[in-house]
Amino acid sequence: MRQKKILLIYTGGTIGMRSDAAGHLAPFDFNALHDEIPSLKQLDIDIEVLTITPIDSSNVTPQRWVELAVIIRDNYALYDGFVILHGTDTMSYTASALSFMLENLAKPVVLTGSQIPMGILRTDGRENLITALEIASATNADGSAMVPEVAVYFQNSLFRGNRTTKQSAEELSAFSSYNYPSLADVGVNIAYNRAAILPCGDAHEPLRISTSLSENVMVIKLFPGIGENMLRSMLSVEGLRGVVLETFGSGNAPTMEWFISTLREAIERGVVIVNVTQCIGGSISMDIYETGAGLQSIGVVSGHDMTTEAAVTKLMYVLGSDRTPEEVKRLLAESLKGEFTA
Ligand code: ASP
Repeated sequence: MRQKKILLIYTGGTIGMRSDAAGHLAPFDFNALHDEIPSLKQLDIDIEVLTITPIDSSNVTPQRWVELAVIIRDNYALYDGFVILHGTDTMSYTASALSFMLENLAKPVVLTGSQIPMGILRTDGRENLITALEIASATNADGSAMVPEVAVYFQNSLFRGNRTTKQSAEELSAFSSYNYPSLADVGVNIAYNRAAILPCGDAHEPLRISTSLSENVMVIKLFPGIGENMLRSMLSVEGLRGVVLETFGSGNAPTMEWFISTLREAIERGVVIVNVTQCIGGSISMDIYETGAGLQSIGVVSGHDMTTEAAVTKLMYVLGSDRTPEEVKRLLAESLKGEFTA
């Protein structure tokens, strides 16, 4: 069998740090990857490294997602898969955004990083990187990619990227996918959960990328005591197109007249409001309580069991191109890349 070719894209984050001679953390040179991690040669994979300006992922913007999507499109025919090394803080946002932006994906795009820098002896980065490379080059018996979707690999688990959330700033298992099973569990062997993996895009069709993302999107997290003035001023930001409303429990919110009418006015001005839960797991059901029914009656859209990360990036994607309100509604009601449980 032909040796698999993987493009390893280094974007920054903790994984790319090592101790310098003075004992300070300094960036690791991924272009000298084989010298830094000689054991990589044991993988029968042709790895090429591309470094783009390394940043702490707290500085990620939608422009970086466009940059990544363009790199993947331009190199798509040359590689069997892509591994993106990324800071953990916003990895779930990047994975979610790419899942929507890369259309007709038939190859793996696996994001990983680490909690402990690569240059520290006890690093989790080495295993995360090696296994991500193995997963990105895994194929089915017919030669098609085993995981033809945007995924996050971290600490023995492979997850659908747009289902992940960074759940711990301390634990090595930094990511969870509360509402969707893992795509693979890694022990002595890599056990793929084939039934959970998205079907492959049409390998005879090109990859299409969507590069226009709306930045007129915000998140509003409800809390007891949120005031009318606060809500009104957030919703009157100029140019606002979409809001992810983080509500209580199964999608509940205050029933006060001012609350509902402030949201209703925004919706009437064309702002799309998507309801997601503040709970780490579970789904929106706006028809259980009166406190959810009020939102439903004014046209708040259910985010089902989407993460905030997926809801924000989906809104950016859906509102990024010129679409009619009907089209926007239809795309939000549909699970485009397995981002919610239909
Ligand atoms: N602040 C870092 C980042 O997200 C944390 C990490 O990589 O784990 O870039």
